[in-house]
Amino acid sequence: MARASESHAHSAIPAESGWYVEAMEGLVGVVQELSHARSLDKITEITRHAARQLTGADGATFVLRDGDQCFYADEDAISPLWKGRRFPMDICISGWVMLNAEPAVIDDIYVDPRIPADAYRPTFVKSLAMVPIRRGAPIGAIGTYWAVKRMPTPEEVSILQALADTTSVAIENVTLFDELQRNVKALEESNYELSRFAWVASHDLQEPLRTIHTQLELLQAKNLGPLDEAAHNRLRLVKDGTSRLRHLIQSLLVHARAERMEATGPVDMAEIAKGIVTDLGTQIEETGAEIVIGDLPTVIGDPVLLGRVLQNLISNAIKFQAPGSRPSVKIDSKRSGDEWVISVTDNGIGIEPEFQEKIFGHFQRLHSQEKYPGAGLGLAVSKKALARHGGRLWVDSTPNRSSTFYFSLPTAPHGVEG
Ligand code: ADP
Repeated sequence: MARASESHAHSAIPAESGWYVEAMEGLVGVVQELSHARSLDKITEITRHAARQLTGADGATFVLRDGDQCFYADEDAISPLWKGRRFPMDICISGWVMLNAEPAVIDDIYVDPRIPADAYRPTFVKSLAMVPIRRGAPIGAIGTYWAVKRMPTPEEVSILQALADTTSVAIENVTLFDELQRNVKALEESNYELSRFAWVASHDLQEPLRTIHTQLELLQAKNLGPLDEAAHNRLRLVKDGTSRLRHLIQSLLVHARAERMEATGPVDMAEIAKGIVTDLGTQIEETGAEIVIGDLPTVIGDPVLLGRVLQNLISNAIKFQAPGSRPSVKIDSKRSGDEWVISVTDNGIGIEPEFQEKIFGHFQRLHSQEKYPGAGLGLAVSKKALARHGGRLWVDSTPNRSSTFYFSLPTAPHGVEG
């Protein structure tokens, strides 16, 4: 009741006034209700009821400023007032209240020159109290009306003004909330457009690239005529270039696909791992890598995305090795609470502790292209794809000895897990 004693101090309201304490308690409830309101309609509805209830008046109106007019947006009264009508600011009392930014308290409306009597004659109103909404620069007013001639008390006016002040904060919140929602929606739309574009572009780019790659391989294999050393080097450079481009495009595809995440279902991670080992045949053969696949679960997710994650981790495990060493890679899993944790362990060069966070950022690499080629996107897109599945990706590594990359995935619903 801090507010009650504050108002008490300002306007010398008798503390023993039971009505005032009750009204203040009612106001606290209204403040809470208003804080949850997310539209102007809701605010109007709460306020018009509250204005009448808190003051015990026979009617209440909620008026909004609309340019140089007063718009009687809503009302709650024993018989109709002016709901839906507009009056010029300079001829109605709500206009006076807004223009002067102060309350109007009138015990007999028919003797007050600020009142357009003709507009009041068809109504029950004999006396009124009206306060501005937002005292600095009013944007509206709340009116309360009685069917008898009486002077509204200072307590009633003070409660009404407190209601108007709260209403003004609520309106501001709704405006901000609306703006925020509009911005979020616009961002979502542009994000969706962008990912759609990235998806289509990367998808279409793959085709010509595949052709270039195949043709290059044919050229190299067939060794058309006497190619000198320099020509061989050029061919190798072009091939490296196209394979980097292919990696980039594949990462872009994963990124775009994670943005949309449409095709989910049971994914047998053991099958996926076996498929990857087949796909990585050349890399495995060239390095003499030993790959061991342990027990892996079936999870719910997007098979393409989860396949990419595993492929990125396995091919990194084979790639980041000291020169001449034979890669040994183990893919395993364990259940931890309501998650599966899948691990890829290698015997490679490891990662210094200070870089173990950084490597998950886009285009973050720790080595030159010559030493270890790559685009620096694999871990970043894997992390994103896993986040889309409600999972995480992290690393535990000992430099010059080994790294284990872990990723978690929620356990599959009953009956699907393997
Ligand atoms: P890329 O492999 O194309 O460079 P990634 O995003 O997959 O990109 O990896 C980022 C960086 O993290 C790598 O360049 C490397 O420095 C480090 N890294 C990733 N996997 C391993 C690993 N198994 N062992 C050591 N370092 C690794």
